[in-house]
Amino acid sequence: LIKLDAVSKHFGEFQALKQVSLEVKRGEKVVICGPSGSGKSTLIRCVNRLEAHESGTIVIDGIKLDENPQNMRKIRSKVGMVFQQFNLFPHLTVLENLMLGPVRARKLSADKARETALTYLGRVRIPEQADKYPRQLSGGQQQRVAIARSLCMEPEILLFDEPTSALDPEMINEVLDVMVELADSGMTMICVTHEMGFAKKVADKMIFMDHGEIVEEATPKKFFAAPESQRCQDFLEKIL
Ligand code: ATP
Ligand code: MG
Repeated sequence: LIKLDAVSKHFGEFQALKQVSLEVKRGEKVVICGPSGSGKSTLIRCVNRLEAHESGTIVIDGIKLDENPQNMRKIRSKVGMVFQQFNLFPHLTVLENLMLGPVRARKLSADKARETALTYLGRVRIPEQADKYPRQLSGGQQQRVAIARSLCMEPEILLFDEPTSALDPEMINEVLDVMVELADSGMTMICVTHEMGFAKKVADKMIFMDHGEIVEEATPKKFFAAPESQRCQDFLEKIL
């Protein structure tokens, strides 16, 4: 479903991604970890072209991601993203936040968009919060709204960039539980996270990045039991 081949990216002189290659099949869950600045966010931002890669190829569902705006639109409609900061519109209610994308981009009627929104709000288990504003919700609830908002676009792939690292500890699990359910439902997911309990539960493939490179790629079993590289071992020792 997703194929990156020798993807590179500079910010000025600094090379944030060095020839990164990665394949993700439909339904697969990939968890990416690695030290700060290693290029994790840059990598997944390239997948929905929040960043443009400069060399190498990215193909998603047979469509090549390049300057062609039509391709970009097609890919954006397939790929949803959930950020560390929930990025909800503060002046809109939960329901309005969820309806905006479907009405604007998917051209759904307001009625249909509301129905879709309520369905997914149920899926993330906060149907009763529909008429509140983001500031009236806890961080965990806001992140679940953000996940529901992505689902309202009916994506084929969901990208998560440290979705729980802005949350108070007691709220992390309520968001991870929703992510585990999503994983079980067959969604294709790439998750940047240091929540290794979650990774062990859902990942088909673990990736460790350092200095813009994929240093280690393995099944969770192998990854946690016997990582090959010293850099990965050192990293895991620090966070586990
Ligand atoms: P973190 O764990 O802190 O989120 P990360 O692995 O997600 O780190 P990236 O955000 O991908 O790291 O950044 C990789 C490198 O690229 C960093 O050194 C960062 O400073 C640099 N970088 C990222 N975005 C930009 C930008 N827009 N302009 C310049 N440099 C950038
Ligand atoms: Mg990051």
